Amino acid sequence: MIDHEKVEQAVRLLLEGIGEDVNREGLIDTPDRIARMYEEIYGGMEEDAGVHLMKTFTVESSEMVIEKDITFYSTCEHHLLPFYGKAHIAYIPDGKVVGLSKLARTVEVFARRLQLQEQLTGQIADALMEYMQPKGALVMVEAEHMCMTMRGIKKPGSQTVTLARRGVFETDPTLEERFFRMLGR
Ligand code: ZN
Repeated sequence: MIDHEKVEQAVRLLLEGIGEDVNREGLIDTPDRIARMYEEIYGGMEEDAGVHLMKTFTVESSEMVIEKDITFYSTCEHHLLPFYGKAHIAYIPDGKVVGLSKLARTVEVFARRLQLQEQLTGQIADALMEYMQPKGALVMVEAEHMCMTMRGIKKPGSQTVTLARRGVFETDPTLEERFFRMLGR
């Protein structure tokens, strides 16, 4: 749960810390605004991906399923700045599939908390394996990190790419090749 009072106090301190006047008109409501915004952008902390991934349908096919270009927004836990981009998910069903919107919802659950991109990628793959028990899963995340583009090395547009392989994707490289072909890479 977000502790509004604590967040508001902290934001006031932060504003004072950078030399701002917390009582000026433009800032007076900022602590409250940020506390309410955190409900949303860190709302994933209280959610469980299983809620979405356990609603499965039975299928005969074990053909690869790909959901690509899932837009997400997350927050870097080192700088509390946004990182955002696209997630691409593939899995090989073992008798069970989920509705495609559930994959996007799963990305949201893990994106809406303080994160590292590598960890986000792995958590999505692990949730698929745990709740759907597919033969394998592959998750690829491409993102731009504000902590790299608005400060520090300042390389606008540079993308960080992370990959997590589970199950048959770890042992059969042809599956990964097919994933990249279907992604158009
Ligand atoms: Zn960062």
